[in-house]
Amino acid sequence: MRRRLAGGRCAVRAPNVSDGVFGVVGARAPLAFFSRLERIGHAYLFSGPAGVGKKTFARRLAQSLLCEAPKTALLGYCERCPSCRLFAARTHPDFVESEATIKIGKEGGSAQHDAEFSARDLVRELSLHGYRSRYRIVLLGDVAFATHEAANALLKFFEEPPGGVVVFLTSDAPGSLLPTIRSRLVEVAFSPLSAADVASVLVADGIAGDKARLAAEVALGSITRARSILDDDASGFREAAFAWFAHAASGERPDGGFLRLDDRSLNGAQKRAVVLDLIEIVRTAARDWAALTLGGERTTLLAADQRERFARLPARNPSALVALLAGAAESERLARTNVSAGLVVDHLRMQLAPR
Ligand SMILES: [Zn+2]
Repeated sequence: MRRRLAGGRCAVRAPNVSDGVFGVVGARAPLAFFSRLERIGHAYLFSGPAGVGKKTFARRLAQSLLCEAPKTALLGYCERCPSCRLFAARTHPDFVESEATIKIGKEGGSAQHDAEFSARDLVRELSLHGYRSRYRIVLLGDVAFATHEAANALLKFFEEPPGGVVVFLTSDAPGSLLPTIRSRLVEVAFSPLSAADVASVLVADGIAGDKARLAAEVALGSITRARSILDDDASGFREAAFAWFAHAASGERPDGGFLRLDDRSLNGAQKRAVVLDLIEIVRTAARDWAALTLGGERTTLLAADQRERFARLPARNPSALVALLAGAAESERLARTNVSAGLVVDHLRMQLAPR
C-alpha cells in the first residue's frame, strides 16, 4: 500500500532523473527503473563494474524508503525528518549494511575476519521487522558467496520474506552468485559512468580540475578506479604494474610483491580488485605496444609517460600482439569469476610471455 499524502502537500520532490537531485552521478537506468516503481520488492541485485556508485545508490534508496516525510514516489528523501537524521548519523535501527564481504558458499575458507558478517548475523538481520519504520533494509555490498549456511539463509528468506524486509545486494561479478540465488533477485544493471560524471565527483572530493579530468579520462567510467589512479600516483602501484608488464613481456619473471596477494588482511574481493587494476594497466600497455609496433614512434599513446619503456620491449609481430590483447581480455573475464587472484595473475603472465 502506498503512503498517502498528508494535507495534500508533497514535502519531498521526486528526484529529477536528469539533474542528479538524488545525490548520485550516472545511474540513469536505475533511477528511471525505481522512478517508475510503485512498490518496492523484497530483493534486488545491483550489478555492474566496481566504482560506479551501486552502494551509494542503495543507501539513497534505503533512506528514501525510511524517510517519514509524505511522498508521492519511492525515490527522494527530506534530510530533515527524525528518520533521515538517524540515517545521516548512521544509527538508523532499520538499516543494516554489511561492513565486509559476506562469505556465502565456500566451506573452510579464510573467513576468520573480525568485521565479517556471519551466516548467523544474516539469518537474524533477515528475520527482524522494522523497529521504527515499516521497512527494514539490509544492504549486502560486494557480496561474495561462501558458506552453504548463509546461502540457505538467503534462500529461506526468498521462500517466506518477512513483511517489510528489503535486501539489496551489490556485485561486480554477478556470474559468481549461485544461480538459485541470482534467479530470485530483481537485477538492476549499472553502466560505467561518463568521464564528465567521474570528473565531477573527483572535483567534489577536492581534486583540482585538470587532474580530475585526466584521471577521469583514463578511469573508464569508475570512480573507484579514478581515485585509485590518483592514489597509485602516490603509492607507485601504476609504475610497478608497468614494470611488471615489461618484465613479463620480455620473458623475465616479474616481481608481483606490489600486488600483495599473500597479504592475509585482504579478502578475496579486495585481491580481485587489485588484480583487475593490474589487468587494466596491462591492457593499456599492450594497446600502446601494439600501436607503437603498427604506427611507429610518433603514434599517440594512452600511457604517454611510458613510451621509453614500451620502445625497449623486444619486437613482436602484429598477430602475436592481437593474440596478447585477446589473452588479456580472457584474464579479465577470469578475474570476474571465482578463480583465485593468484591463478589469474599467472594466466595473465602466460599471455604476455614470448612464445
Ligand atoms: Zn526524511
